[in-house]
Amino acid sequence: MPLKLNSRDANFTERFRAFATAERAPAADVADTVRRIIARVRAEGDAALIDLTRQFDRTELTAETLRVPQGDIRAARKSLNRKTLEALELAADRISAFHESEVPKSRRFTDAAGVSMGFRWLPVDAAGLYVPGGTAVYPSSVLMNALPAKVAGVKRLAMTVPTPDGHIDPLILTAADIAGVDEIYRVGGAQAIAALAFGTETVAPVDVITGPGNAYVAEAKRQVFGQVGIDSIAGPSEILVVSDKANDPAVIAADLLSQAEHDPVAQAVLITDDADFAARVEAAVAEHLETLPRRDIAAASWAQWGAIILVEDLIAETGTLVDRLAPEHLALAVDDAEALADTIAHAGAIFLGRHTPEAVGDYVGGPNHVLPTGRQARFASGLGVTDFMKRSTMLHCSRDGLDLIGPAAVTLADAEGLDAHARSVALRLGQAPASDRSS
Ligand code: NAD
Repeated sequence: MPLKLNSRDANFTERFRAFATAERAPAADVADTVRRIIARVRAEGDAALIDLTRQFDRTELTAETLRVPQGDIRAARKSLNRKTLEALELAADRISAFHESEVPKSRRFTDAAGVSMGFRWLPVDAAGLYVPGGTAVYPSSVLMNALPAKVAGVKRLAMTVPTPDGHIDPLILTAADIAGVDEIYRVGGAQAIAALAFGTETVAPVDVITGPGNAYVAEAKRQVFGQVGIDSIAGPSEILVVSDKANDPAVIAADLLSQAEHDPVAQAVLITDDADFAARVEAAVAEHLETLPRRDIAAASWAQWGAIILVEDLIAETGTLVDRLAPEHLALAVDDAEALADTIAHAGAIFLGRHTPEAVGDYVGGPNHVLPTGRQARFASGLGVTDFMKRSTMLHCSRDGLDLIGPAAVTLADAEGLDAHARSVALRLGQAPASDRSS
């Protein structure tokens, strides 16, 4: 049974606070294991990758077979039916087009002192993409991670994917091919992250690593941060659906289950202003669950982490509640979804109106589906082009400009006791060095 909250209840604030701050995925204690794996990859290179892959993925590799050959990628593409291939291509086109619109502009301007300044955005040289290879296959994640990097202009894109028992899904290889991934390695877990961060004989190091994975992958990304850049650390999925009673309960129930089926600790929440509608959605969830292939996962998530929140006034009350939860996905299935969205500050991705299923955004909408979870939407954004770029600022003083602003720099450098700083400016201004000035 999902949690039931009613904003009219006397203890609502307290119960809502407890719900909003509950820890869903206590971090597994994997830090030491990951530290050892990273150290081994740094010390032994390919040999460690080969040994750890034998141990964890039951796959025999050599330095020559670590990298997936071009022939396998071509064969994978041929093995797909046309409909799947066309769907992947449509998704890739739409995702690329959306991310083109995200490319930031460089800027330069001259201020009143005649000093020219600005910034320029440039891509990193190489990006690493981790693709998880456990029970489910996520070609959509390949596109969502690789395409922003391509749009950013990253020259080299290296992908790692574990191949349990030697198996690699043709959908993954084809999605990587469509997205323009340059290199694919059959390695998973912390060892893959270590290889991308530090390099081995076969895998050249990258500058940024993105992509989801299990606790070992997440911890490895945390540990290599600083050596390389990383995207966020993804936790279990979430969806918050705001719905009035004008929707079909079966549709809203399917929206809720679309995230619940990801993980037993995923979270699906409904906010509505109609008790009868809430009961009909709950019944529809039960009905869907009878036939969902992933019902065990979805049912566990809905029973343990699901919630139905009944409010009196959907427009007046929703904004505050949503902001407290800062959900990864927010679906607003109401008439004036735009107006409701204006009352909300914190959500990873917002799906507006009655005809925008969150799942369309998972695949073909255009915006990225790698989003902040666990209330990180308060301070973080979904994966995008700028995760693969960095900004250099630019400053150019004319002689007159330096005359105008330089003396203040000398004063501040003197105040900080940094003499060489002061001299580097003062000498250009034709002033005596600070030590001479003070004597
Ligand atoms: P994975 O590729 O993340 O992990 C497999 C690797 O884990 C193995 O190759 C192995 O190296 C390592 N490993 C397993 N047991 C180990 C142990 N005892 N010690 C050291 N290393 C060990 O695949 P997975 O396990 O199926 O996990 C995939 C995860 O990615 C799931 O949690 C899933 O929810 C998540 N995911 C998230 C998104 C998203 O967008 N948020 C998308 C897809 C997948």
